[in-house]
Amino acid sequence: MKIGVLALQGAFAEHSAVLQRLGVEAVEIRLPGQLENLDGLILPGGESTSITKLMRHYALTKKLHEMAVNGFPLFGTCAGMIVLAKGISNGKIEPVGVMEIDVKRNAFGRQVDSFETDVAIPVLGRNKFHAVFIRAPLIASVGTDVEILAKLPNGTIIAARQGKLLVTAFHPELTDDPRFHQYFLDIIAGKK
Ligand code: GLN
Repeated sequence: MKIGVLALQGAFAEHSAVLQRLGVEAVEIRLPGQLENLDGLILPGGESTSITKLMRHYALTKKLHEMAVNGFPLFGTCAGMIVLAKGISNGKIEPVGVMEIDVKRNAFGRQVDSFETDVAIPVLGRNKFHAVFIRAPLIASVGTDVEILAKLPNGTIIAARQGKLLVTAFHPELTDDPRFHQYFLDIIAGKK
């Protein structure tokens, strides 16, 4: 399997490291021509304003939209989730906009804009997942085709899936638990 990691800005190197650990070829993607022959693409966390500006500049926004509509698997984490959302409640951002979710940027306020917590994610098994939130967005609402994968104890939605599109509000690449990346690989392989 060969998975791309969008490498315009943000935490892309960490995603590549997890993929390599799982025995998968990871390729850094900066230009549309590099999207050929990939089995899927990860959009990392970082700053969604910068990432979407760079994506537009390099003609990646529409190309990825088209590919996603045709079933190409995408996994967006944190800012990457914002890039995939159809609805963004704050911030002037032109997203890829393929997933039926509404997100709110920087949703956890200033005092607690970064925190870590163990969350239950049933599709990953019984052990909780250590989730790292850095100026994280939240998912305010989801469309009918979207499966909610995880919530915080207060009900805030923090991970979801729609077909071969997967998103998390947190950073699964910053822990040494590769289960979320493995889940994405299983979705691509049609095992989940
Ligand atoms: N606050 C960032 C944004 O809105 C996301 C933060 C992150 O990806 N860690 O783009």
